[in-house]
Amino acid sequence: MNRLLIFALSSFFVICGFAQQTPKPKLVVGIVVDQMRYDYLTRFENKYGNRGFNRLISEGYNCKNHHFNYIPTYTAPGHASIYTGTTPRYHGVISNSWYDKSTKRTVYCAGDQNVLSVGTSTVAGKMSPHRMLSTTFADENRLFTQMQGKTIGISLKDRGAILPAGHTANAAYWFTGGKEGNMVTSSFYMTELPKWVNAFNASKTVENYLTPWDTLYDIEKYSESGTDLNDYEGGFYGKETPTFPYDLKTLSLSNGDFDILRTTPFGNSIVTDFAIAAIKGEKLGSDDVTDVLAISYSSTDYIGHNFGVNSKEIEDTYIRLDKEIERLLDYLDGKIGRGEYTLFLTSDHGAVNVPGYLKSLNIPAGYLKNTDTRQKLNMFMTTTFRSADLIENISNSQVFLNHEKITEMKLDLGEVQEAIVNELITYEHIDKVFTANAMRNTYFDGGIEKILQNGFHQKRSGDVIIVNNPSLISYSTTGSTHGSGYNYDTHVPLIFFGNGIKPGSTYEKTIVSDVAPTISALLNISFPNAATGKPLTDVLGN
Ligand code: ZN
Ligand code: ZN
Ligand code: ZN
Repeated sequence: MNRLLIFALSSFFVICGFAQQTPKPKLVVGIVVDQMRYDYLTRFENKYGNRGFNRLISEGYNCKNHHFNYIPTYTAPGHASIYTGTTPRYHGVISNSWYDKSTKRTVYCAGDQNVLSVGTSTVAGKMSPHRMLSTTFADENRLFTQMQGKTIGISLKDRGAILPAGHTANAAYWFTGGKEGNMVTSSFYMTELPKWVNAFNASKTVENYLTPWDTLYDIEKYSESGTDLNDYEGGFYGKETPTFPYDLKTLSLSNGDFDILRTTPFGNSIVTDFAIAAIKGEKLGSDDVTDVLAISYSSTDYIGHNFGVNSKEIEDTYIRLDKEIERLLDYLDGKIGRGEYTLFLTSDHGAVNVPGYLKSLNIPAGYLKNTDTRQKLNMFMTTTFRSADLIENISNSQVFLNHEKITEMKLDLGEVQEAIVNELITYEHIDKVFTANAMRNTYFDGGIEKILQNGFHQKRSGDVIIVNNPSLISYSTTGSTHGSGYNYDTHVPLIFFGNGIKPGSTYEKTIVSDVAPTISALLNISFPNAATGKPLTDVLGN
């Protein structure tokens, strides 16, 4: 065809409106950065380059007031909620692990005794999404495309890979540390690893990251974090001070061999390497049927738990993660094409500043011992009801009662719950207490009550629910943790980027349940079956 004809034809299509149609993205990439507080985007902004986080912000749509709308803010409910468009109240993933009332034992969110490990001699592969009760947007994309659109989930953590990828995923892969240092899966997905995964595991990729971890730039320039040596960091076994540099090869011997990489920025590099291998190996985004790649960076969480949110180690981790995002974007641009894919970046929860540090600045904060609460409450139960067996379990800030015993003793369940509420509210560290009956019978339309209700699953949750004071945690005195409904745990980044996304930003409040419906609307497919959120129309430009 000569050039003139091509020009004439393309003008014809533009006039007829064909060229105005936005084709669907070839690939949707979901990125969850585990334990990423919103302020990591702004605090380290000047240290980031233009082609990582800052590119997502300048070319994409930045939801600056994005929150989790349920309690507890943990990894498993976080990942499940982002991808199902609802909260634990409906998807049923009420924590990472929880006390199962029917079997009277603690269960792990992704644990599955009915499947086998694939790619590891350990039990690390005995996992599946079977405890998640609803579909993810990736599931709906599979159904919509007659199972032609692929779904792959990738993370160091099993739950970070499995829950987003959903029930119909082609695969989810996660990391085994120890002596193996491999990416593995379960028989829920396949009977043996694909060639490209075996090739990845056989390569020296993981081993090569057992190098010294020093700051990427001169540590003197890291003015956005506390001193490298302070009282609020954990550190590694075998090294006296939690200070740079860390000789990972030597330290790996006393820190779980390859498991040490989880608590270093190189854990994130492994995930990027593997994601790129997956795009190649599975030919993701190579045709017009939309595929889904769910990536979760876990090292940010391990490092936050160990060193705290104000540490030099966290600053260096985010400076390096910015480079990983840049590397991934560059690869996607080259392989799939600019504007041919849609990406979102968010987090599964934030984290609290180390309470010891806050206390040193006169901010109310501190530590509590769950065992103390349990002992005190048990004493109360014994004196009030003349039985020490009425409480079966206390976990995830919930009290689980022995319903059989209550019936046997001819007690009224509601009255026992109320008595516990009246007792617990007198404890100094407790701010609020609610009964399961209140969660069930009352409609809350705001505040901490509403987000407790969003996290409350009638069949799986406990009889009494406790809310502690802000910045009060049951944790070691070093490092940060999360789980509450306070802003430090609920406020996280949410940025959309690429195909179908209108550049911009907002301070209007958005909630975790809106993420999946926004992607569903973009793809023009069914919403996840229990979704309660709404598409963010400003993001989609309509
Ligand atoms: Zn997490
Ligand atoms: Zn340090
Ligand atoms: Zn965590």
